[in-house]
Amino acid sequence: MQQDTIFDKIIRKEIPADIVYEDDVVMAIKDINPQGPIHVLVLPKNKVTGFDRIEEMGAVEAGKYIIAISKVAEKLNLKDGYRIVFNVGKHGQQTVPYIHAHIIGGRQMGWPPG
Ligand code: AMP
Repeated sequence: MQQDTIFDKIIRKEIPADIVYEDDVVMAIKDINPQGPIHVLVLPKNKVTGFDRIEEMGAVEAGKYIIAISKVAEKLNLKDGYRIVFNVGKHGQQTVPYIHAHIIGGRQMGWPPG
């Protein structure tokens, strides 16, 4: 059985979050520890534990999720660009086992990432 995470509780609206966008496919919330002027997490309502398990969503749902991430980024009006991050597992420093895309923007990014 999958672990119930903080994002499961946020999706079920059992605990509050700063919701910036919601539809049938995703909920987008402000990150509580922002890494830039804009830092939004995009959570699919159809849960898998991480990007490494995205195949379990099925191609149609996974496609809807990716398109929703792009739409949320568009709504954030980040005209000079932004970064999308999926942290995966230990080396990727994933802390919450509920797939989520980070959209970070509003500042110049560096490369390589830390
Ligand atoms: P990751 O390390 O990729 O698993 O990202 C988890 C992210 O969730 C971190 O950036 C946290 O700051 C963020 N986070 C944890 N709890 C909450 C919460 N209750 N509301 C919003 N963001 C959260």
